Amino acid sequence: MIDVLTEVKVYQQYINGEWVESESTEMIEVLNPVTEEVISVVPKGAVADAEKALQAAKNAQDAWEDLPAAARGEYLKQMAVVITENRVALAETLANEQAKVIGLAQVEIDATAAYFDYYAGWARRIEGEIIQSDRPGEIMYLHKHAIGVAVGILPWNFPFFVMARKVAAALITGNTIVVKPSQEAPNVIMEWMQLVNEKMSLPAGVLNFVNGAGSIVGQALSESPITGIISLTGSVGAGQKVMEAAAKNITKVSLELGGKAPAIVAKDADLDMAVKAVVDSRLIFSGQVCNCAERVYVAAEIYDEFVARAKKLMSETKVSHAFDGESAMSSMVSQNQVDKVEGMVNRAIEAGAKLETGGEKMKVDGKGFFFQPTLLTNVTQDSEIIQEEIFGPVLPVMKFNTIEEAVKMANDSEFGLTSSVYSNDYNTIMYVQKRLKFGEVYINREHFEAIQGYHAGWRKSGIGGADGKHGMEEYLVTKVVYSQAN
Ligand code: NAD
Repeated sequence: MIDVLTEVKVYQQYINGEWVESESTEMIEVLNPVTEEVISVVPKGAVADAEKALQAAKNAQDAWEDLPAAARGEYLKQMAVVITENRVALAETLANEQAKVIGLAQVEIDATAAYFDYYAGWARRIEGEIIQSDRPGEIMYLHKHAIGVAVGILPWNFPFFVMARKVAAALITGNTIVVKPSQEAPNVIMEWMQLVNEKMSLPAGVLNFVNGAGSIVGQALSESPITGIISLTGSVGAGQKVMEAAAKNITKVSLELGGKAPAIVAKDADLDMAVKAVVDSRLIFSGQVCNCAERVYVAAEIYDEFVARAKKLMSETKVSHAFDGESAMSSMVSQNQVDKVEGMVNRAIEAGAKLETGGEKMKVDGKGFFFQPTLLTNVTQDSEIIQEEIFGPVLPVMKFNTIEEAVKMANDSEFGLTSSVYSNDYNTIMYVQKRLKFGEVYINREHFEAIQGYHAGWRKSGIGGADGKHGMEEYLVTKVVYSQAN
């Protein structure tokens, strides 16, 4: 049964502790990708909305930073409680707005609550340093301060979790924040903010949400002199635009951008585990995950067996609507995304790739932006399908003869987010993990990061990073104090 929402929700802007109308009357429609029905509308947004929110965040910031960090942590804990108490309804909203299978939607909701809790725990651990001075009677110390007003710009693929990545780290460190949700997946955030507004007494201006188009609201937030740090998760193109806008005021940027994660499967790998991990990493959320395996290099000795097993697993994968408990993946997020993936697959085949399974768009109950799990072989290292981000359920496989060759091909990419290696040989693992030029390396497991780690891309995959201690420190500036006692 497809869960159909009958009510079209109308969301506005949340600025300075209240819901306010946008200065723009134009609205953006949000679709349920499975049913293709409009389920909500959000404002297209105006520059004035962004400016109002930034001013509110600025006005609230000193008092927020003056609170003891433990008091800020208490607010984060309450935010987690609001999520946990509404975890099922929030997961349903998420599944409806982006066709995330309900099990994975629930994982995202629960991980978001855990994220607020985790950062609340940092409250008493934000520390400075004392340094020896060259002068008698002088003490030198390093203070860590909030940057001021943070801006978070979100993608559609993990909208709730990525929201917490920005909000929790910014607030615990004493920053206030203005967030621009993705215009394709604002609902879960809006529903949660309504609950936070009703159930908590967060000081006005500390947390603001401005819906709208990236070229209007995102641009205005990025080029404002009020903004102290812009943390964007999205495509390389949006990252470039944000950097250009930030250059105006030399504003700090933290960018988490696209990926083209390689997986290397050595001849001595546990094949059952490697095939499952790579295929799972590729099909989770229809391949629309920045860190999931986008290309796989397999040792010649096991290549045929790997392809046969991956083909079986992919062709047997159930693709259905998001509330079918047995479906491993559902629709892609939009017509645009499914068209983009189809184009890349067709061009790969025209260039000589062999289609092992899949390769077609599909509908469920006559609707939706589905694409079949697709396996391609006979692809070349310099081809589009190996070099460009696919962001869909398509896995290209290449063969290698030596482990040196595999590492060379894996590193031959302008992206540098995540990577993985499958082997039971210690020397092979050490050789590969040392040489992979990526922000994350997974050994003998699927690609999926932990909140206490550090999620950061190299090269065009980004600047700075999120999660753990180092992700929190993105939102701090350092002051050196020279304190001379007479
Ligand atoms: P996108 O770049 O289209 O949009 C991301 C956000 O940027 C949206 O909120 C959008 O409105 C905004 N934006 C667009 N133009 C802007 C501008 N000129 N100024 C300011 N903001 C602007 O990305 P998407 O389609 O939402 O997400 C998919 C992309 O995100 C993929 O490339 C994926 O790899 C990447 N991603 C990366 C990570 C990571 O952690 N590295 C995580 C999730 C997604």
